[in-house]
Amino acid sequence: MDRKGDREMNGAASSKRIPWVKYWSVAVKKSLSYRNLDQDSSVDWPMTTAVCDMQPNNRIRQRDVEFRIATDTDTLYEWIASEWLLSTSFVSSFPIEQKIMATQTLKYPETRNYIGGKTTNGTPKQMDVYSPLDGTVISTVALSTAQDLDAAVKVAEAAFPGWSGTPIKERSQIFFRYRELLLKNREELAQLVHTENGKTIDESYAEVDKSVELCEFACSLPQLIQGEVLEVSKGVECRIERKPLGVVASIAPFNFPNMVPHWTIPNALMLGNTMILKPSEIVPISAIRIAELLKEAGLPDGVFNVVNGDREIVEAICDHPGIKAVSFVGSTKVAKIVYIRASASLKRAVCLGGAKNHLIVLPDAHLEMTASNVVASMSGCAGQRCMAAAQMVGVGAIDPIIDQMIVEAKKLIPGKNLGPVISKASYERILGFIEEAEKAGAKVLLDGRNPKVEGDPRSGPGGYYLGPTIIDHVTQDMRISQEEVFGPVISIIRAKDLDAGIAIENASPYGNAAAVFTQSGGNARQVMERASAGMIGVNIGVPVPREPFSFGGWNDSKFGTCDITGKSSIEFWTQLKKTTTKWNPEGKTNWMS
Ligand code: NAD
Repeated sequence: MDRKGDREMNGAASSKRIPWVKYWSVAVKKSLSYRNLDQDSSVDWPMTTAVCDMQPNNRIRQRDVEFRIATDTDTLYEWIASEWLLSTSFVSSFPIEQKIMATQTLKYPETRNYIGGKTTNGTPKQMDVYSPLDGTVISTVALSTAQDLDAAVKVAEAAFPGWSGTPIKERSQIFFRYRELLLKNREELAQLVHTENGKTIDESYAEVDKSVELCEFACSLPQLIQGEVLEVSKGVECRIERKPLGVVASIAPFNFPNMVPHWTIPNALMLGNTMILKPSEIVPISAIRIAELLKEAGLPDGVFNVVNGDREIVEAICDHPGIKAVSFVGSTKVAKIVYIRASASLKRAVCLGGAKNHLIVLPDAHLEMTASNVVASMSGCAGQRCMAAAQMVGVGAIDPIIDQMIVEAKKLIPGKNLGPVISKASYERILGFIEEAEKAGAKVLLDGRNPKVEGDPRSGPGGYYLGPTIIDHVTQDMRISQEEVFGPVISIIRAKDLDAGIAIENASPYGNAAAVFTQSGGNARQVMERASAGMIGVNIGVPVPREPFSFGGWNDSKFGTCDITGKSSIEFWTQLKKTTTKWNPEGKTNWMS
């Protein structure tokens, strides 16, 4: 039963055996037929997931299928016999292969592509998907090829005429229903995020809630994208309409498996495009559930497709002539590569990169509010947010605020209200930053290395937890001050006055967010005007604009002209059609004749 032999593992994949369950599973359908959970495509994977989530001897009913897991065949025979009113001896005389099979212990089955409204066959190349919570393998993910992408593009191209020709108010009905499905499945979606990304369950709920808000904005698009019309000469009218681009692509990072795909999916589709989503191969599972819910909401097959994979698929997306626009969210290094490559093949592109967000704290800032905001910003989602506070610029006498930050940060317990970072590599990279800064003379005020972890999953194969770490007296020449750390770590640089503080912010090559904490309107205004970042906070540590305001940074945090969400994204996902009409041949012609 080991599928490992069937699979060609790539270099990044684990060499560990995939474990198989010891339990027998059976799905009893009203039609009284047995279901082979692994091979019968009519049993979809959420149902299979339900099986995997179950404890032995429990049962769960989904639609008209009931699943149970037994730990031994005798129990299984008894269940089948009573369900079908047969004698146990008769049931046990069936050849076992025809009735039941073992299913894998992986929490989620293989994550395949989703093209044309269904999951595709498995791909020969796969890699393991780990839960950062404890390091266990929870699924495998398809590493698709350029040919797989091409098949998806053809399907999306075929769906485009019908979808773009559907009036936007009809398209919006699907997204109203989809919004309801997000709410109905909030628990399951949040659990998926929690398991595959590792953020806390509360952070995972918040992520799904943000997806709901993004969807609500998309539902309002019919009100926002009316065209323009004017009689420009006697009997001659000019009109402008927004038209979709065609097949577009969205490439996502690991840190928001549910929300970042929703930055693009609802708006791009509502505006009439069809889409290929390439999720992060590290957290690919949520995307498939999103695809299924879109279908359940009534989205026609082929309008939304998921192609899993790594760099090879990203490059193929950039090069594919059938794809008209690419949105990317991820690190600056890759954002640059994607922007240059997609533009070189004449696509429009908006590529959001990494960040190094500066929070300028003045001595007159509100003590408690500032301390709790700064700590929440640096540590939320284990510091793995592109809007996280990475560097605090302390202007003047701010030591009482730093002391209060330490009090706040000590409330964070790894494994309880602070999740792990995504991987061992990430963990080691963060430790490297801290050690280097310490050696260079910075002072670690609160040390998150080797934290006590609630329930200590580090005794297992993973669980890369770091406690909140506050490092003072960092200087601009240190690597920790220049590069993105992406962990629950904040460095503090001291500045003699506000001008010096703003100069420090301005010197960063990034420009996603910047914030100021002060009670002075005049000083706040200075930062609002002079900070070199796309999103500014005044007494707000994570200044994410809420819909309909758009999201997007400056400098090395974004390449491309539009923002990725909100009203600005309308510009990105549409092109203008200008039409001039004249219906009065008898009228005097004084226009373009
Ligand atoms: P990443 O750049 O490693 O990966 C992002 C995507 O690019 C993934 O889908 C991945 O498969 C693909 N990819 C990776 N390497 C590639 C390569 N060499 N060529 C082509 N494609 C490649 O980013 P990540 O580690 O998944 O996410 C974390 C980063 O994303 C952080 O830098 C964070 O700041 C950034 N981020 C930015 C924003 C924003 O709004 N600016 C939002 C979320 C995350």
